[in-house]
Amino acid sequence: MDKSKIRILILDDEPFMLKLLHHMLDRLGFTELTICDNGMAALDWVAASDSEHDLILLDLNMPEMDGIEFVRKLTQHGYRGSLVLVSGENERVLQMAEKLIRAHGINVLGHIAKPVSLPELSVLMETYGQTPTLAQREDPSYDAADLAKAITDDELVIHYQPKVAVTTGEVVGMEALVRWQHPVDGLVFPDQFINLAEEHGMIDALAQVVLNAALHQIKQWQLMGLKLCVAINVSMDNLASLNFVDQVAQAVSSIGVAPHDIVLEVTESRLMHNQRVALEVLTRLRLKRFRLSIDDFGTGHSSLTQLRDISFDELKIDKSFVHGAWHDETVRAIYDASLGVGKRLGMVVVAEGVEDQDDWDLLRNTNCDVAQGYFIARPMPAAAVNDWMTSWDERVRNGLLTSRVTTPQQRPQGL
Ligand code: C2E
Ligand code: CA
Ligand code: CA
Repeated sequence: MDKSKIRILILDDEPFMLKLLHHMLDRLGFTELTICDNGMAALDWVAASDSEHDLILLDLNMPEMDGIEFVRKLTQHGYRGSLVLVSGENERVLQMAEKLIRAHGINVLGHIAKPVSLPELSVLMETYGQTPTLAQREDPSYDAADLAKAITDDELVIHYQPKVAVTTGEVVGMEALVRWQHPVDGLVFPDQFINLAEEHGMIDALAQVVLNAALHQIKQWQLMGLKLCVAINVSMDNLASLNFVDQVAQAVSSIGVAPHDIVLEVTESRLMHNQRVALEVLTRLRLKRFRLSIDDFGTGHSSLTQLRDISFDELKIDKSFVHGAWHDETVRAIYDASLGVGKRLGMVVVAEGVEDQDDWDLLRNTNCDVAQGYFIARPMPAAAVNDWMTSWDERVRNGLLTSRVTTPQQRPQGL
């Protein structure tokens, strides 16, 4: 990227900071620099901005219009450029602000704490142009007709991700995760079509495809002498129809699989429109001996209310409260609380998003029951499961369950 093509606005209420940042950017070879000491005046620059190559260095704390308010104005002006936060606030506040700004759809390169140092600024500016801007990152999007065709043309495929017992290493089950094998775009992930299925009344058809595939797979594994439960993700919209119970029960009995071998993972991604129907569906599934799991625990609208009203067998702590919990005090507090609730209510507790040895060690040290995540295995086609099992056995034999036991209990500072 040609540095002289990047228009940069430095917005800070302190004249000294303006001078300093101007000087530093100049030394780094940026030439198109504008300085401004208040948000109102900066809006003129924004109004003239029409390129995604524009960049704003924004101070969060300013007396009149603060940084967050300024960002709202940026969105109103349809700003397409990027942003760097500069502030003396602590790391958590900066992270929070960064998240908020991203939620506004603005590309944030990162943040830099005051006092600003030249090497730090240099590293951050190096990333400019390396990460695609939001506009460049746009995924292909699909419409309802595309998805309907994918369902009828059998383009949905299932990948399986293992769940393993933390103390024994035993493989206790596989989660079925749907993908769309698109003839042109390749493998398309569920975040690009589950909402579409929900919004256009196709989620029951999708669930039926996944369920049938999973049931046949369980059978297949049984024939090979593998006793594996399969977990299926169930959308709240599936639970909105009383027919769902019969649909599932029929499929299970016609293929000859015990309901006990099926775990239904329920997420509350959307508000429950008809709570009574969902409650009725879940109660009947439970009575038929299907196992119920509360998925993404800690992220929903009323996960605790659900726990009170519905008898779940399993609680899955969302990955955002698992990966890195060993060193982040806030994340760790939520992980501990979720684990505690699950244990206290007698549920099997699964931690998802176990990405590395440190995450794995945390689970072992805190007596979490089951682990799932890239550290154990990425989701894979059924055909790859056998080889993975062999390599997993080997890892277990090589001391995965006994190595690196940390004493005293690993805890982040301050807990
Ligand atoms: P989920 O049920 O929470 O599934 C876990 C997601 O995290 C999966 O993404 C999985 O590939 C990913 N994952 C697994 N281990 C790790 C890890 O260690 N680190 C990280 N960062 N991610 C990990 P995927 O397959 O893209 O699925 C996304 C979501 O789509 C699922 O979240 C689930 O809510 C939904 N979904 C998937 N299949 C179905 C389905 O058949 N029906 C419905 N209704 N929803 C589905
Ligand atoms: Ca799940
Ligand atoms: Ca999750």
